[in-house]
Amino acid sequence: MYRNSMLRPLGSLRALRSFNRARPFSSSIPRLDSIRPLDVLTEEEEMIRETVQRFANEVVKPRVREMDENERMDPDIIKGLFEQGLMGIETSAAHGGSESSFTSAIIAIEELAKVDPSVSVLCDVHNTLVNTVIRKYATETQKEKWLPLLATEQLGSFCLSEAASGSDAFALQTKAQKVGNDYVLNGTKMWITNSYEANIFLIFANIDPSKGYKGITCFIGTKDVGIEIAKKEQKLGIRASSTCTLNFDDVKIPAENIIGGEGQGYKIAIEILNEGRIGIAAQMLGLAQGAFSLSVPYTYTRNQFKQPIGTFQGMAFSFADAATQIETAKLLTYNAARRKEAGLSFVKEAAMAKWWASKVAQEVSGNAIEWMGGLGFTRETGVEKFWRDSKIGAIYEGTSNIQLQTIAKFIQKEYTP
Ligand SMILES: Cc1cc2nc3c(=O)[nH]c(=O)nc-3n(C[C@H](O)[C@H](O)[C@H](O)COP(=O)(O)OP(=O)(O)OC[C@H]3O[C@@H](n4cnc5c(N)ncnc54)[C@H](O)[C@@H]3O)c2cc1C
Repeated sequence: MYRNSMLRPLGSLRALRSFNRARPFSSSIPRLDSIRPLDVLTEEEEMIRETVQRFANEVVKPRVREMDENERMDPDIIKGLFEQGLMGIETSAAHGGSESSFTSAIIAIEELAKVDPSVSVLCDVHNTLVNTVIRKYATETQKEKWLPLLATEQLGSFCLSEAASGSDAFALQTKAQKVGNDYVLNGTKMWITNSYEANIFLIFANIDPSKGYKGITCFIGTKDVGIEIAKKEQKLGIRASSTCTLNFDDVKIPAENIIGGEGQGYKIAIEILNEGRIGIAAQMLGLAQGAFSLSVPYTYTRNQFKQPIGTFQGMAFSFADAATQIETAKLLTYNAARRKEAGLSFVKEAAMAKWWASKVAQEVSGNAIEWMGGLGFTRETGVEKFWRDSKIGAIYEGTSNIQLQTIAKFIQKEYTP
């Protein structure tokens, strides 16, 4: 009896393995040998992580404080991101990109945020929003024209929000009127990331307000079509990342620059922001880890009461709590990314990852200041910057309430009897 019961699990495992071998790859149930821990990276993902880590530490780190103080992104960093192949991570090699995966993009965003969340969001918006819209919805001719520019030299911006349409993004009022073969755009966009340095803009405008959100259309244009920077915001955090108000005053865009067809802008924006949120989760995850790594080592070198402060139980338990929170944010983020990449449903998981990672980022970076005492409160260490930068995670690409609303909708659908 004893021997049999011991052998049964191994026997079942053997049977399952042979079942797996016999099963076609297309089955929706993953093969046993394809399951691995979420945070174990593939060789390619690990290579990207190492490349980005090196770039972040050698090129970005020495400039972080100056960029924050000056509220300006160093152009050499943007140039460096292009040179490292980090501005077309998922773009095909034929279009000048690195032809890697969504999860690789997420890892790059996380690694950059460990050092500077401003550089991270620049790379994030460019890759997960701008490049992805073109890769997914543009015609072949449009891809030929825009993807190589975006992968190798020109920064992109995603222009959806307006003064009166934030969470309610599809109440936007920018209009596009057809005149001959062109559309003439009039309106004002607000809060547009990267727009100070960018040359390529995705612009959401309504071609027929009588149709409501079904009139929203996505246009692509370069700055020289007449996009005017009306104001550059001065912000609490991510100060090196530009955030501007843009005026569109009779801006002419050829009809051939519509992406995805007339009236498809609503669908494009929703789908892109659903996956873009995993990018913000990755930014917040990296930020939390960055604050943790910067502050904890100090506590083992600083003595009070003749003892390193990090060894007091009150401090040690706080580190354990923070490390566990970071781990949960990581698993949620990686899971959402891997689900998206595997073609599985991911919208609920993405909302959970963004909501949770932004909470973790705020809490861990806030605690990190306290762990360092008075020193943490100065601008010298960079820990207070992580805390300032963390606030934005709960606001852009859908506020925390909007994420909770999304998660709650799934719960209601699943549990309504
Ligand atoms: C630094 C920065 C960069 C940005 N970058 C971009 C960009 O590149 N492109 C772009 O298009 N936009 C960008 N945005 C805009 C951003 O996406 C919006 O700020 C965000 O969606 C919130 O909109 P809002 O600021 O109008 O706030 P509001 O929508 O006015 O929300 C204010 C508060 O009301 C709550 N609220 C609103 N509706 C509900 C509801 N139904 N239920 C419960 N609570 C609700 C919100 O949760 C929030 O707490 C950026 C914003 C910032 C600050």
